[in-house]
Amino acid sequence: MMTCRDATALASHQLGGTPSVRQRLALRVHLLMCGACRRAARQLRATVALLHAIGHDEPGPSAAREAALLDAFRRRDG
Ligand SMILES: [Zn+2]
Repeated sequence: MMTCRDATALASHQLGGTPSVRQRLALRVHLLMCGACRRAARQLRATVALLHAIGHDEPGPSAAREAALLDAFRRRDG
């Protein structure tokens, strides 16, 4: 099974890219088994969605905030 570190990295990467089917499946399995990562991934998605909703008319600053957020998420040591 993938580690929490791998899962958070993939979850945050997923927002900006397209992971392989295998990666998505591994992440899904991890999220099913790991409540901490499940909550973190849900919060990350909700926060990013909120940032998009608030700042979609100013892509520069919004992208910077999103990058800072993703960085903070990646640093979180599950
Ligand atoms: Zn985990």
